[in-house]
Amino acid sequence: MSVDIPDMSELLKLTPTARYGDDAPDRAAAAGANAVADATGARGGALHLSAILPAVSAAIGHPINTAVHRDPKALQRALGLPDATSAIVVLVDGLGYWNLAMRLGHAPYLRSLMNEPANQRPIATCAPSTTVAAMATFGTGTCPGLTGMAGYTQLNPVTGKLSQLIQFTDAIPPSDLQRQPTVFERLALRGVQVTSCGLPKFKDSPLTEAALRGPAYVGGVTPRDRLLAACDAAKTPGLTYLYIRDADKTGHSYGWDSDKWIGVFERIDAQLAALRHNAPHGTLIVVTADHGMITADPDQRIDIAAEPQLSRGVRVVGGEPRALMLYAEEGEPAEDIAHRWRERLGGLALVRTRDEAIAQGLFGPVDDRVRPMLGDVLVAAAESVTIVDSRTQSDKATHLPSVHGSQSMMESDIPCLIDVA
Ligand SMILES: [Zn+2]
Repeated sequence: MSVDIPDMSELLKLTPTARYGDDAPDRAAAAGANAVADATGARGGALHLSAILPAVSAAIGHPINTAVHRDPKALQRALGLPDATSAIVVLVDGLGYWNLAMRLGHAPYLRSLMNEPANQRPIATCAPSTTVAAMATFGTGTCPGLTGMAGYTQLNPVTGKLSQLIQFTDAIPPSDLQRQPTVFERLALRGVQVTSCGLPKFKDSPLTEAALRGPAYVGGVTPRDRLLAACDAAKTPGLTYLYIRDADKTGHSYGWDSDKWIGVFERIDAQLAALRHNAPHGTLIVVTADHGMITADPDQRIDIAAEPQLSRGVRVVGGEPRALMLYAEEGEPAEDIAHRWRERLGGLALVRTRDEAIAQGLFGPVDDRVRPMLGDVLVAAAESVTIVDSRTQSDKATHLPSVHGSQSMMESDIPCLIDVA
């Protein structure tokens, strides 16, 4: 059975806001595999990025519950993970479920995994569907409302300025901003071997410290070094994490629909096949992603700098071109900004005030200290729209060929592929 791929117009529709919790979404539970492969199906619960590490912890016999997941065993069952003494979790940056499904002809190993009915169901990433938010959601098994990592850029309430959370420029220090324990830390405290394999330069990066702290870090210069290090670590019972960056990077530079991206995708498939080949017998392998990607339409690019109706009352624009966080000027009601944006954008974006977004569970449960970091108004772009601000963003940043951050199927549906070596 192969995966049915909806039309691009369907894939660009915004999905319902994913829930946090331990239950499988109703539709998936009722109808089985492929049941959430449309834009209207309920998402989240156990079928969510935040569920992966708690579920894997249960699979290796050391269940870790988190602030949003009380029952790791239920997550393991819902995701269909077999028990194993050792597990390798691979996160491929930017490889959305539908990006993958639409290019399977280039990826014999991933194709073989996607032929398994158990793998033919997307799971949901967090909102916004972007790396900093997703990494912290993944690493802690919680949600942006608790991790305080809610966008590529967000307000630093201490300084009143925007912080950028890849490099943590102008940001609250990583371990102070992100206070949830990671699943890696909790496992290590129990004496379980936890290893992370990545680029040497990411070992002490602030993003690693915030979102993924805890494991022994093995830096490898080449992709092969890193995957062999992961296979070596997996000889000891425990959890190994492997990060693969290039699909996202190439997507942003050349477009996910470019030949360059396909070349990178083919290499990633070969690396994953080599991982599977070299992993110790019986190792559980889980392949997931932080988000997918869409192709931006230059004719649907909206520049806030050129639209007084959009810039009015907005002090700072955070987030990213598909998921904006608008911070109001002093005394400006969020409802008024939201009203003007809805009037201008109509169906081109989903516009919510912070209170509306929180009430809908967009960020999961929200800590009081995180609340002011979130925008007064949250904007999720629809179709192939990007919304930029040429007053503050670089020309490159406002013209990326492929982007992500919003709630379309393309961006928010991610794979959770299961294999056993
Ligand atoms: Zn990205």
